[in-house]
Amino acid sequence: MAKILVIDDSRLVAHVAKTILIKQGHEVVLAQDGPTGLAALDESKPDLILLDLIMPGMDGYAVCEKVKNTFETKDIPVIMLTSKAESSDKVRGLELGASDYVTKPFDEGELVARVNTHLRLKELYETLQEKNRQLQELANRDGLTGLFNHRYFQEALSKDFQRAMRYHESLSCVLLDIDFFKKFNDTYGHQTGDVVLKTLGGIIEDSLRDTDLAARYGGEEFALVLYHTPAPAAFMVADRLRQSVENHEFVHEDLVLKVTISVGVATFPHPDIPDHKTLVECADKALYRAKEAGRNQVIAF
Ligand code: GH3
Ligand code: MG
Ligand code: MG
Repeated sequence: MAKILVIDDSRLVAHVAKTILIKQGHEVVLAQDGPTGLAALDESKPDLILLDLIMPGMDGYAVCEKVKNTFETKDIPVIMLTSKAESSDKVRGLELGASDYVTKPFDEGELVARVNTHLRLKELYETLQEKNRQLQELANRDGLTGLFNHRYFQEALSKDFQRAMRYHESLSCVLLDIDFFKKFNDTYGHQTGDVVLKTLGGIIEDSLRDTDLAARYGGEEFALVLYHTPAPAAFMVADRLRQSVENHEFVHEDLVLKVTISVGVATFPHPDIPDHKTLVECADKALYRAKEAGRNQVIAF
């Protein structure tokens, strides 16, 4: 069952269409002119519109143009109702974005068939869009941790950096790496290592504001982007995260395990940081120094 909006100034035509469509189990909303139809569109959110072309005041072409040029309504199929057999009218309507037309007086079977065809097409289109959205989401994510992946991180940071420069906002990048993780894997096995990575992903996610971005940067390395965050605040976030990891007990089978992380932080604006690549490089240098200084610590560039 679908909701169909019929916009036609002829009460008779509207009534006939309504009777036919209700028999099919559809819900029908009637409007007698263009402006009323557009208002009904906002309120009743129909799945399809039957639209008379010739109406006093605002005609069907103007209504169609408005429907197709409005983001919220552009995907609602419009079927023109035309009494003229002239093809130029239909062509103009189709060019404005109408999906199809039905000539008046209606042949009941034809009206039903065209309406149902376009309802089905709309449903398929929506399913496809949803699948595309899901695929896009999957393509941006790391399979093990569910965090964003390296590619998405680079893309997002590049855009974020541009914006931070333009609006003179501070932007911090945090890189963190698990300490002695090779040894951990060698001791407890790769699978246990994976459990740690996954759990760590969750700890990172929980430690951030919804607006910040967390990604798996590489094997056992993670990257964060903190927006509107100057260096001292970024350091605090990073150190709180470091402590959470240090205090966390990773449980796998009957083992209770601990790991630590080393963290590097770099913040824009900084005289040595002209672009997003350098921002990451500087965070990486700081991370390297944290490793050298004994690990399980945060160093700011
Ligand atoms: P450091 O403190 O200097 O970072 O030492 P490390 O051993 O952590 O660093 P290294 O770069 O030598 O080794 C990284 C280890 O991370 C080796 C690799 O087996 C492990 N690793 C990388 N990706 C994964 C993964 O997806 N799963 C598991 N279980 N381990 C991984
Ligand atoms: Mg490591
Ligand atoms: Mg590493």
